[in-house]
Amino acid sequence: MKMKLSSFSPTANLFKKINSNLTKNLGLKTGKTGTVILRLFLIFFLASQPAALMTSAGQNPRTNTIAIVGGTLVDGTGKEPVANAVIIIEGDKIKEVGQAGKVRIPKEAQKIDASGKWILPGFIDCHIHLTSETSDLEYYRDSNSLATLRALQLMNMYLRCGVTAVRDVGSHVEAMQALLRAQRNGYIDSIRVYPCGDLLTITGGHGYGMHGSMAVDGPWEWRKAVRQMYASGFRHIKISPQFTLEEARAAVEEAKMLGLRITAHGGGFSDTMPPTMTKVAIQAGVECIEHLNEMDDEALDLMAERGVFNVPTLMTYYASYQRDDINRFLVEKRGWTMAMHEMLFKKAYQRKIVMGIGTDANGEYREMYPGIYFDEMRYFQRLGMSPMEIIVCATKNGARILGLEDELGTVEAGKAADLQILKGDPLKSFDNLGSPEIVILRGKVYRF
Ligand SMILES: [Zn+2]
Repeated sequence: MKMKLSSFSPTANLFKKINSNLTKNLGLKTGKTGTVILRLFLIFFLASQPAALMTSAGQNPRTNTIAIVGGTLVDGTGKEPVANAVIIIEGDKIKEVGQAGKVRIPKEAQKIDASGKWILPGFIDCHIHLTSETSDLEYYRDSNSLATLRALQLMNMYLRCGVTAVRDVGSHVEAMQALLRAQRNGYIDSIRVYPCGDLLTITGGHGYGMHGSMAVDGPWEWRKAVRQMYASGFRHIKISPQFTLEEARAAVEEAKMLGLRITAHGGGFSDTMPPTMTKVAIQAGVECIEHLNEMDDEALDLMAERGVFNVPTLMTYYASYQRDDINRFLVEKRGWTMAMHEMLFKKAYQRKIVMGIGTDANGEYREMYPGIYFDEMRYFQRLGMSPMEIIVCATKNGARILGLEDELGTVEAGKAADLQILKGDPLKSFDNLGSPEIVILRGKVYRF
């Protein structure tokens, strides 16, 4: 069963509508110039969306101090919720947090009354491919401009749901650069993106040939690829099998020398990629393993011992099994089932391996956004984690995985002012997540 893009994507319809209006009103033909003008128009149109929302909500973006009062704070550290909390925000940072009466509220502060509501840190998605195409046809018709807009669509969708930061583990390099620069220059106003740029793989390896991947062979090519991603402005590296220990070591060494974070796709993904790949990556010294695929207890013990993080991405596998488009070899010969991923989750949980929420909904699965993020949280709950622990996965652990625990992930003094205000108690039901009334990002208030 294949899902249709048009049933979900408002932007796709928007694109069609604007296209036909432009053709009608401006007399644009479908020539090259028309396409370029249309693209530029769309970039500005879409980029202006969150800013327009902010203005319509009557917020003054220049107001420097905000006081959130009266709400129940779930701060992301895993500590008990704080009732009647006061949070003072100054500029883009949290200045002070505490109980009412214990925190001085500056006179000039713009007050947000959160009585009867819940305040949480903005959520983090540790595994996303923002520019992923939705079909093979789109892949062949793709361009960097279109990929940039596709990414922005997802970013804005996430903003409305309270997901305020993502780590992109493989997307068009130019699109990622454009987004970062556009944010720095103030052209667009959306969530934080921490891209890896191209994922690095071998000729014929996992991810080979996709937009947002680079094929390299031999330790020196792997080193150079890491340097290229660094030179492109990225601070995260993603490696994908199958690499030799020498290649993975070269990439890890280079990344660490340049002060970059490095993560690896875990497990082989076909008949030619052995399950021992994960152990090779851990031995090489990566900081994080993506997915929970085919790991023996020794690999899990090694992860726990070395403090290697994990991003399970259960929902995307679940969707693959539902639609039966998992590689048959993996299912029939290697015994891949949802039960395997679930068992590994339980083993990782027992070993206290730090896990984050990642979605990885590529291709046609892209239609599962934004709900897949919260479904992933529900999946963790079904496997025995408590709601509070899962909120920590979505916030503090996400920040740790990104290497940004000093800046993001919790509502504490000195951290970035990225938070969300919810109508219902998230600890009672995750159905209360995903539709915050207010999202604050870099100290700016968005009311939805
Ligand atoms: Zn992925």
